[in-house]
Amino acid sequence: MIAVIGAGPAGCAAAIMLARGGRRVLLLERQAAARESVCGEFLGADAAAALAELGLDPSALGGVPLARARVGWGRREAGFALPFAAWGLPRQVLDGALRDAAMAAGADLRSGVAVQGAEPGPDGWTLRLAGEAIGARQVVLATGKQAFRGYPRVGAPPGALGLKLHLAGVAAGDAVTLLPFAGGYAGLQPLPDGGANLCAALHGEAGTAARDAAGFLARVAAGSALGARLLDGARPCWDRPLAVAGVPYGFRAAAGGPPGLFRIGDQAAVIPSFTGEGIALALHSGLAAAAAILAGEEAARFQARWRRRSAWPMRWAGLGAWVLRQAPGAFTGAAAVAPAARLLARGTRVSRC
Ligand SMILES: Cc1cc2nc3c(=O)[nH]c(=O)nc-3n(C[C@H](O)[C@H](O)[C@H](O)COP(=O)(O)OP(=O)(O)OC[C@H]3O[C@@H](n4cnc5c(N)ncnc54)[C@H](O)[C@@H]3O)c2cc1C
Repeated sequence: MIAVIGAGPAGCAAAIMLARGGRRVLLLERQAAARESVCGEFLGADAAAALAELGLDPSALGGVPLARARVGWGRREAGFALPFAAWGLPRQVLDGALRDAAMAAGADLRSGVAVQGAEPGPDGWTLRLAGEAIGARQVVLATGKQAFRGYPRVGAPPGALGLKLHLAGVAAGDAVTLLPFAGGYAGLQPLPDGGANLCAALHGEAGTAARDAAGFLARVAAGSALGARLLDGARPCWDRPLAVAGVPYGFRAAAGGPPGLFRIGDQAAVIPSFTGEGIALALHSGLAAAAAILAGEEAARFQARWRRRSAWPMRWAGLGAWVLRQAPGAFTGAAAVAPAARLLARGTRVSRC
């Protein structure tokens, strides 16, 4: 039996392919049901390609097609057509569909179960759950942003704060809008039932001033005339933004690790948000880990290969995030935004690596 810990995009992708490959799969998820999590909810061509392999289609799931991107910084703004198809899809919908697909493929999904530890032994692995121990031949670690006890992300950089707020009264159109502000940058895009999702990565002290909905909106609006215009009249759908602290952007798991332990998704690499596509990376890492397990490959070999495969997307996304963090003050060339974004979109594509 193969135990997959965490039923986010990475864990579900691995579980679906392993179950389809005839393996007995136990998928363990601590949430009782799929729910919203901190995420910009942007799905690009890379994610769509992986979802197609899993039998899912963002349009059929109700994703809002996105045709354009915009950036606003200070008084400046620039816009361009996206060089690939893209969608906005709430995480609750995406994660729910992936979990359903995992069960349909034959994986045994146990929800509402937090795995507390995993220890290797001579005959495989023992997972510790509340009042229970489970044996598994191999373990796929897909717990995402959350650290998993006993398996720290060695060398992870200081974490950023992620915030997400659904808004009514915002006309986001058919665009994903990047809004840099002092201490971070946000992405705004439409929701399927109207309104918009505002999601941001904040660095250093910036997060403390933005933990309530009004403070968050004010912070983003102060960064650009475009942000102020778009958020004027926005009504938060929740009292407070969803928050996740300690997001170690730039982390990549070392090659190696204990036999039989496959780290995927954010447990393998945390790509900067909005300039890279974390969901695509997570889905593709799940597909790659499943293929490796089905081929009888050792975990250390898979880990080394995935580290190499994620290197260029991580570098490009890191560069893009650095540029965004210099705004709103430091860069001025609106004409350079579209070619730079196209270059970034090509450089961060993991399915090409
Ligand atoms: C601010 C921000 C904005 C982002 N915007 C985007 C975007 O627009 N587009 C994009 O592609 N990516 C975006 N990302 C990145 C994306 O959210 C992640 O890369 C992606 O969710 C990683 O998938 P995963 O399956 O590895 O982890 P997750 O999606 O985090 O899933 C992990 C799962 O494991 C479960 N779990 C955790 N611990 C345990 C345990 N002990 N036992 C059992 N279950 C457990 C969790 O409940 C969760 O369901 C963003 C990230 C941030 C922080």
